[in-house]
Amino acid sequence: MTEPFQPASIYARNADPSVRVVIAPTKYIQGPGVLNTVGLLAQRLGFGKVGLLASRRGHGAEAAAVKQALESSTIDTATSEFGGESSLREIEARVADLSPEALDVLFAIGGGKCVDAGKCIAERLGVPVIIVPTLASNDAPCSALAVLYTEAGVMSGAEFFPNSPIAVIVDTDVIAAASERYLVSGMGDAMATWYEAKVCAENPAARTVLGTRPTITATAMSELCAHTLYDHGEAACEAVRHGAPNESLEQVVEANTLLSGIGFESGGLAGAHGYAQGYTVLPSVEEHYLHGEMVAMGVMAQLMMEDCPDEARRVGEFFVRVGLPVHLGQMGLSATQTEDIEAVVQGAMSFAPFANLPFPVDQDRVRQGMLTASVLGEAITAEHGEQAFQRIR
Ligand SMILES: [Zn+2]
Repeated sequence: MTEPFQPASIYARNADPSVRVVIAPTKYIQGPGVLNTVGLLAQRLGFGKVGLLASRRGHGAEAAAVKQALESSTIDTATSEFGGESSLREIEARVADLSPEALDVLFAIGGGKCVDAGKCIAERLGVPVIIVPTLASNDAPCSALAVLYTEAGVMSGAEFFPNSPIAVIVDTDVIAAASERYLVSGMGDAMATWYEAKVCAENPAARTVLGTRPTITATAMSELCAHTLYDHGEAACEAVRHGAPNESLEQVVEANTLLSGIGFESGGLAGAHGYAQGYTVLPSVEEHYLHGEMVAMGVMAQLMMEDCPDEARRVGEFFVRVGLPVHLGQMGLSATQTEDIEAVVQGAMSFAPFANLPFPVDQDRVRQGMLTASVLGEAITAEHGEQAFQRIR
């Protein structure tokens, strides 16, 4: 077994000025009905045998469409059923399914955990990976890293890969048919991209997950990501309610998937994802809330820590309009549950990129950010109601 690939061990050696790196998928393809084109694409890329990783549900839906498109272009397929957790045990089992098949490429078709597991499986099989996200709920598809979980679903680490996915293919007919809550959650994850990348760009001591300084390219993509959400977020939700893509949905799916994916990996993370990691230590939250919903709570808390209450209000009002949580009550928590609050604070502080904030991060400051953001969120929902939040769950 070769040593795990660690980008920081290559790039982080230069102290000042630091190396800067952009990581991106080779191709990003998005639009209504694009799954029908994968046969032709795979043929032109010279693939004879394709592996298809999807959940049981996925094999009856999107993966079946991919299989049909491939087979109508006379490409052989082999299938493997993803069990639901991006854990080492699951990954090894799927590698065992697929290694006798002599594949040329693996398609990973599904949500965030399936696509991350697919990257790990393809790496072990020694073949390239093509990602087909069926939800726009997270920024996993475009990155060259995978988050790993225990079999119980607790985050346990990450794997980095020397190669990016050779294609990310997003069919917006599929996204428009999924539940609105997934798209909205993806907007929470994507909105954090700008507020975290901005911190990293402005703080010369900050480093990305690759151990590098952010590029101006990734920083600009992060800013465009936030503008796109503010301008098109609500209209994109409407498209999903009607089950049909529109121009706003196309723009928001691109923001959630491509801009946010490159933005977080090459622009840098900070406090918002720290709070999100903190929330996962509470089983009541971990089981009932999506990653992007926890990140949304983290965006407001990070902005309060940074003493930017006006920007926190601006983003909070947007979150209320699309249905993201903005106060502890909407997460089933209260400021008086001090044990839970302290558990989140401790979990948040164990997230290394929190150190990208340009001031010392201590327990009091992390707790204060979280609690003052919740008070602000309560004030915003008192003014504007929480109809969208209620509607989408
Ligand atoms: Zn995220």
